Amino acid sequence: MKRIGVLTSGGDSPGMNAAIRAVVRAGAYYKVEIYGIYSGYQGLIDGEIESLNARSVSGIINRGGTILRTARCAAFYEPEGRERAAEQVRKFGIDGLVIIGGDGSYRGAQLLHEEHGVACLGLPGTIDNDIGGSDFTIGFDTAMNTAMEAIDRVRDTAASHDRIFFVEVMGRHSGYLSMIAGIAGGAEDILVPERPTDVQTVIQTLRDGGDKGKRSMIVVVAEGDDAGSAFDIAKKVNEQSEFKQTRVTVIGHLQRGGSPTAFDRVLASRMGVRAVEALVAGETNRMVGMKGIELVLLPFPIAWEQRSLFDPSLLEVARILAM
Ligand code: ADP
Repeated sequence: MKRIGVLTSGGDSPGMNAAIRAVVRAGAYYKVEIYGIYSGYQGLIDGEIESLNARSVSGIINRGGTILRTARCAAFYEPEGRERAAEQVRKFGIDGLVIIGGDGSYRGAQLLHEEHGVACLGLPGTIDNDIGGSDFTIGFDTAMNTAMEAIDRVRDTAASHDRIFFVEVMGRHSGYLSMIAGIAGGAEDILVPERPTDVQTVIQTLRDGGDKGKRSMIVVVAEGDDAGSAFDIAKKVNEQSEFKQTRVTVIGHLQRGGSPTAFDRVLASRMGVRAVEALVAGETNRMVGMKGIELVLLPFPIAWEQRSLFDPSLLEVARILAM
């Protein structure tokens, strides 16, 4: 293993830069050349690739986003696109790739390996924490804290005006971020795609809260809830109940940005080093996960086959504490 390429793919997450830095510096330590590939698989196909050294990644451990940029790449879903990517890998003399992204990026990496024998190693970079085989993903902790802080701020104004707020948190397919941020922010109710939402039940929860003396309340809504967006749900509550003074806040892309927490920086740093060590040791077609406090190497399909984040007991905790 003389030359490793590193790229970020799919949605960005805070801590991706810390992971890039770790890959580059571990490469320098183990005397492997590191090439940065820009804009995910699209940049790989287009040959947007350049050599990075230890100094190229100075001062980025604390920065959100990804200096390599990231992209979604339609061409990579097709065999011809992956063929073009493999040609670039050969042209640049790259012996292995570190792919920082979510399970979609792993699916692509798996195919690149199967079809062209390219050695691939995945690092879980996503704010959703929805990668099977890893208790945590790079970026989740930061996004969770950002969402919690936003809920705290909304609560200040909700309490001052006796209002009910619906706060929408990211998570198209996974309500995990919403569940955790909702508990941390003391939400009165949390609506997630994993559990069907009944607007009448939400209204009843709000009535119960009012009966218990609550003058303001917060309902956290995961982006992908089956009853619609936070705006849709607030509108239905307005129409179907006496609660006419509801407000909506969509935290949106604020959740993706910002300086990563210490937890995400350390996770990314450890995982980046592990990825280089694995490739140098000849281990490929694996993702790095964290189980408990240990790093593990797992086959890519674990990422989507063992995804089991929905834990109803967390929602139960939120329900009990909404007393
Ligand atoms: P994430 O990696 O965060 O889950 P996406 O699902 O958007 O994000 O995947 C990122 C990119 O990975 C896609 O734009 C595409 O280029 C590639 N990819 C995703 N799924 C596949 C697949 N089934 N086959 C080939 N490439 C894929």
